[in-house]
Formats: sequence, C-alpha cells, structure tokens
Amino acid sequence: MTFGCRHLYRTLSLHPYVIKSCCSNAKGIIFGKKPTCINYKNLLHKSSMFLKSFKGGSVPKSCKGCCELVFDFDWSSVEDIKFENFYISNWFDCNANCIYCVNNCITDKKITDEIHKSPCYDALPILEYLKNENLLGDKLKIFITGGEPSLLKEMPDVIDFFKNNNAVFFSVFSSGIAYCESFHDLLKSDIRTELIISPDCGNPDLYKKIKNVDRFYDVFNNIKKYGEGCSENNRIIVKYIFVKNFNDNEKSVLEFFDRIDEYASGSQYAVRFDVDYNYKDVEHSRVSDLLKFANEEIERRKKAQTFSPITSQLSQNL
Ligand code: SF4
Ligand code: SF4
Repeated sequence: MTFGCRHLYRTLSLHPYVIKSCCSNAKGIIFGKKPTCINYKNLLHKSSMFLKSFKGGSVPKSCKGCCELVFDFDWSSVEDIKFENFYISNWFDCNANCIYCVNNCITDKKITDEIHKSPCYDALPILEYLKNENLLGDKLKIFITGGEPSLLKEMPDVIDFFKNNNAVFFSVFSSGIAYCESFHDLLKSDIRTELIISPDCGNPDLYKKIKNVDRFYDVFNNIKKYGEGCSENNRIIVKYIFVKNFNDNEKSVLEFFDRIDEYASGSQYAVRFDVDYNYKDVEHSRVSDLLKFANEEIERRKKAQTFSPITSQLSQNL
C-alpha cells in the first residue's frame, strides 16, 4: 500500500512565517521558514524530495494523521510538480480586529487602513519564479485570505499575475471595510470568483463589539457596490459567523437578513452561516437551532445559500 497526497505537488500555501505544501487546515510540509530563509530553489528542491520519499513508500512526519492523506494513492500518473492551488496569506495586518480572529495571537499584528507591503515577504517574486521554472499548472485556483487583502500593496499585481496565467477560480476573503477595484474587476470578469465578506450581524453596535471598529456602514455599502456589474457566474457571499454570547440569537439573525434585503438582494449574492471555532460541541449547542431558524428564513426570503464545512454537516442533520 502506498500513501500519497495531491497537495504535495499541486498546492502552495504562502503564510506569514512559512511556505508550505497544503491548505491552512493541515499541518503541512514546510518548504521554508521565516521570510529570510525562503529561497526559491530550496522550495523546489524540498518539494521534489518529499515527492520522491512519498513515491518510495514513506510518509513524511508532518503528514502523519492528516485527513488529506490517501491510502493506496495512484502515483503512476504523477510525474511532475505543477502548482495549481494557491493559498495567498503572506501577511496578517487588517483594518478590523474581530474577536475570533486567528491572527489575534500575533503580537505585532497591525490594525490599519494604510496600504503597505507585507511585513513578512512578497508573494509576487515567488510566483514569477515558479512561472519561469515552468512550475505552474494550467488551471489555477487561488484562495486569498490574510489579513485584509485590500491593504496589501502588491495585491493588484498578484491578482493580475494569476489572471494572466490561466486562473480559473478566485476565492477572496475581505473584511469589506475598504473598497478594492481589483476585487470588483474579478467579480465583473468571466473568471469564476467568490468574494466573501463576513459582517456577522445586521446592527452597527453589535458590529463594533465583534470587530472592534466602527465600520458597519462602510462594509454594507461596499457589499452593495461590489454587486454592480457582477457577472452571473460570480458571487458575493455575505457571511454570518456565530460568536458565542454576541450574535447567537434569533434577533441578531433577523437583523442580518433585514440588512441583506436592504443591501444585498439579487442573484449575485448568497449568504453563508458559519461557527466561531471557539464554540465547543456545536451539534449540541444553540447554533443547531439557530441554523434551522436561519434556513427557514432563507427559504421564506428566497435567498441563495452556500455552506461552510461545519454548517453543511449540521444542516444535513437538521
Ligand atoms: S498529507 Fe496533509 S500535511 Fe501532508 S501534504 Fe497532504 S495535506 Fe499537507
Ligand atoms: S476581517 Fe479577517 S483578518 Fe481581519 S480581523 Fe477579522 S477575521 Fe481577522
């Protein structure tokens, strides 16, 4: 039996302090640590090294126990490293400070409106290197997270790079506080794009408590603006994350839907419910009832819905 994982030769994740082989949900094989140690040739060398070791039947330590690991993997058709899934998250600064943000543990995270370089390293030279070495696949899928991507100076160039190199899908997470023309252009384009903005409520006071900034109306006005000219294949997903003791009640859910009716009605919009990772034992918490309540409201108001992994699983059991 040979183990394997497609992420190893197809996925590249750029994080603030590391570059690794797989999405942020997995531990991952680290290609380079700290910006100063990231040497592009080294990245390629390490990637080939792990590929060989997998093919030879051994499983790298950091892959052991990972849910993406496949038993009886068919390596016969895998010849080369061609990256086609990109997670772009090489910074953490943001114009909000959500109480549930995973970056809150980073002490030098900056809350700012200023457009600036990544405090860690630039993504573009790495992408250009991969292109020059013929390491790009022919159907690229790009997941832009962060931090807030509209703050990053190189972001329009990063997006253009992918647009010019066979991008077929973009998923962009944004706080929605600042309008970004590059995101809007993607939404208007033929490339499949989803822009995900998570106001988590429909009430400016509650927004301030969850996000620690007073930008509620900026966000909803931008949500409305992004809908203008959005192509029919593309979506703006307006998200609601249940945060314990803040918005996990029916009143807040209804307020959210009222704002959706006001700012985000039309086929270019969808709603998505999700759960803060601090919420324990979700299945037996009040979130299950609230999700049922939200689903009924979605049907009543005829909204489109997309699912996060956790709500998809919960919805099946409702
Ligand atoms: S098995 Fe898991 S940790 Fe290893 S490369 Fe695949 S996704 Fe990453
Ligand atoms: S918008 Fe995203 S990156 Fe910014 S503070 Fe909130 S969760 Fe963190």
